[in-house]
Amino acid sequence: MFRPTSVVLALVFILQVVLQIVRGAAILEGRPYHDEPYYPTDLDGANSTKYNELSAGLKWNKSLLTYNIINYPVAVPADLIRSSIRHAFDAWSEVTNLDFVESANAAQVDIQIGFEGVNHYRRGVPCQFSQEITLAHAFFPEAGDIHFNTKYFFTGDTSIEQFLNTAVHEIGHSLGLFHSSSRDSIMYGAQLELRSKPQPEDIQAIQAIYGVRSGIRPTTQAPTSATRPTVKVIKPRTTTNLCSLESYDTIVIDHRGHICVLADRFYYNLNETNPPARKISAKWPKLPPKVDAAVTYRDQKTYFFKGAQYWKYDKRQLEERYPRPTDVGFLGLPSSIDALLLSKGGGFLVFKDQQYWFYDTRKAKPVEWYYPKSTDEFAGFPKRLDAALVTAEGRRFIFSGLRYWEVDDNNYVIGRGGDVRRDWFNC
Ligand SMILES: [Zn+2]
Ligand SMILES: [Zn+2]
Repeated sequence: MFRPTSVVLALVFILQVVLQIVRGAAILEGRPYHDEPYYPTDLDGANSTKYNELSAGLKWNKSLLTYNIINYPVAVPADLIRSSIRHAFDAWSEVTNLDFVESANAAQVDIQIGFEGVNHYRRGVPCQFSQEITLAHAFFPEAGDIHFNTKYFFTGDTSIEQFLNTAVHEIGHSLGLFHSSSRDSIMYGAQLELRSKPQPEDIQAIQAIYGVRSGIRPTTQAPTSATRPTVKVIKPRTTTNLCSLESYDTIVIDHRGHICVLADRFYYNLNETNPPARKISAKWPKLPPKVDAAVTYRDQKTYFFKGAQYWKYDKRQLEERYPRPTDVGFLGLPSSIDALLLSKGGGFLVFKDQQYWFYDTRKAKPVEWYYPKSTDEFAGFPKRLDAALVTAEGRRFIFSGLRYWEVDDNNYVIGRGGDVRRDWFNC
């Protein structure tokens, strides 16, 4: 028998279901971070499989980590940013055996924190947010750096609470945590309700890596003034003084952000005052003298090219199975290259004599058939390069003998060449 009340009840029920779906969808959406963290994938792709399996234990092999906020957004007092970041680190430190100390020496810290546009640099190497709407992103251990998108932080209506939530989430990645499928986790892929610290399951996850908090935490007071590292100057023995160098093999920024000039069996660290000649073999064991070119990639690994081979160093240690043939690791590149320059959009340029090749790290066939091309395409380019590099600020320089030039994004020389000895060697 037809009863109007059952129709009403059925309608109410349907309405409830619909409401729940709508609400459910809204909850699922939240505000996604769009921040798939970077794996320390290598320039030559050698380690990508390992990390793609997600089996690799991404962790810091030390418990005291340093950080530095390399720049600040304009619209918010720097103190507020600093205390929020401090709060976010403390929230993790309270529950696990990790300590974080703010350090004034940006180049040396474990975790650099910056506010960046969509295309930016990380320690001199191009870095991009995967989408314009990415809130922030972070590098897994032991890279760790965190970049906040200036489009959100702090323009428009983004609150400090949202920033704090994002900071706690990104630090989670920096420490080795992946996204969680649980909405109760700070590591969920979207912002639901704003939180200021790790949740119970996040605490479990971080403790599984670094253990339950034990002992007293050291002071986390930030140093107030710049503390330059005291540099031990070792007297050079029967070696050429930097200022009397007539030529050099290459210039590379190492994994610590130090600019090193390599000449024969020696290198000079330009971040030191009056840098002495130090033995290359002491810093990069097994590296031969007179390398052709070198680069440190965003995985912080340093690659040296010489003849038909290349060497890959994880910090100061030569990786297993290296050197390898260049045409195996970097299909399509010539041997005996002159210089290598990372490009803004990913990939890099390789120079040899008056020719260049573009190597696109994202493609299966990284070098197109139409390479090499002539460097005549680049206005003002010198005939032959000795070195090329991108600074931490993202400025790009090429070197030919004792002259250098800054180049723009299209590799056109900006202005007249400068003197390498005067401007780089500080002579
Ligand atoms: Zn994330
Ligand atoms: Zn970045």
